[in-house]
Amino acid sequence: MDLKKYVTIVPDWPKPGIQFKDITTLMDNGEAYKYATDKIVEYAREREIDLIVGPEARGFIIGCPVAYSLGIGFAPVRKEGKLPREVVRVEYGLEYGKDVLTIHRDAIKPGQRVLITDDLLATGGTIEATIKLVEELGGVVAGIAFLIELSYLDGRTKLDGYDILTLMKY
Ligand code: IMP
Repeated sequence: MDLKKYVTIVPDWPKPGIQFKDITTLMDNGEAYKYATDKIVEYAREREIDLIVGPEARGFIIGCPVAYSLGIGFAPVRKEGKLPREVVRVEYGLEYGKDVLTIHRDAIKPGQRVLITDDLLATGGTIEATIKLVEELGGVVAGIAFLIELSYLDGRTKLDGYDILTLMKY
């Protein structure tokens, strides 16, 4: 299946010059969403994944159906102040300023094989921060899966040494 047919390119959003990749038109097509999910399920199965971890909010959309399909758990990574119990936190750089991501301290058992999911790899900053959280809790990042990779931003360099699946490249 040509998944790119289901992605809508929105010119000049959220800022002039940005060609935003809108995946909502993939998600609201049952066949395309299932096809993409099944590809990631297959990848996760081959890597004997124990737990899926995804950053809010689109990492949930990709990761949760994979976790359900495999009968394994999903642990959310959220912005600061959203998770109710003790967290570990990491600061990461944005284009302007910085942001913080958190995960519950007991979300991962040491040695668990984790698959990180998100919709899109751009500069890699979000996933680099997510990797730090997983590893701080003793998890093993056994795979990282995205629907889309923006190759021209070279986010892969930041994720050097990790096993990455991307279903579409631009
Ligand atoms: P990074 O941290 O620079 O790799 O940015 C990745 C994050 O930005 C992901 O969580 C995406 O949801 C979001 N993002 C950046 N560009 C786009 C886009 O064109 N479409 C959808 N999400 C995007």
